[in-house]
Amino acid sequence: MPPFYVIGNLKMNLLSREECDEYVSQLRREMTGKTFAHARGIIAPPVIHLNRFQHLPPGFTLAAQDMSQETKGAFTGEISPLMLRDAGVGHVILGHSERRMYAGETDELVALKTRLALKENLVPIVCFGETEEERRRDETVAVIERTIRTVFSGLSSLFAERVIVAYEPRWAIGAGVTPTMTDILQVKVYLRKLFSELYEPALAERIPVIYGGSVKAAVLPSVSWEAEMSGVLVGGESLYPRELIKMMSEAEARFNSQD
Ligand code: PEP
Repeated sequence: MPPFYVIGNLKMNLLSREECDEYVSQLRREMTGKTFAHARGIIAPPVIHLNRFQHLPPGFTLAAQDMSQETKGAFTGEISPLMLRDAGVGHVILGHSERRMYAGETDELVALKTRLALKENLVPIVCFGETEEERRRDETVAVIERTIRTVFSGLSSLFAERVIVAYEPRWAIGAGVTPTMTDILQVKVYLRKLFSELYEPALAERIPVIYGGSVKAAVLPSVSWEAEMSGVLVGGESLYPRELIKMMSEAEARFNSQD
């Protein structure tokens, strides 16, 4: 059975080393006595604090919130995928809406970063989704199609199935509102159709699609398994280790009830 991802994007929070240490201790405390066979935790701290997150509990992996499209050289302020690998990072969030909004990232740039991440053995978590304005203009499908076609264009099957795609409607991020289960499910159905145009159907089924945008334990069922998502990308709520573990426990219990 494929894993269920609970990905915590800590963004530019946890300002000191002490706060980071406290976060990791809480995570370890909350995990005491628990093991998850299906639920996978992934934590993306601010890059400067990666070294404080080296001792995550079993079942967790470390992610970065972004990376450069270059590996080395005169790129002031950038972080190479090779540096991330060396710091024990396994996954990297790419094309997050805040990168698109504040750093002007485009689908073309996200495509370059995705390719490089895969080449350097990092799993890309590629974010995309419509703005409020685009939703009002009924452009959700067009926005999704543009990102997916750009990012996956020319990507081999071998690489394509390593990508995690994260549908994050921008109007839901940090807003305390979520789309309905039906809205998310429709996106999932559309993505499967699109992927099966690009790849053979069995592979198209395997590419994990997750949901992000104001996820809390209370809405987990409707935005994830009821909408046939393979996991969630969690922003604000991931600052509370207890809540992350609660979501993983619920996902695990659901898997077990299906065994
Ligand atoms: C995010 O930043 O990817 C996110 C989903 O944030 P939030 O959960 O706070 O809406």
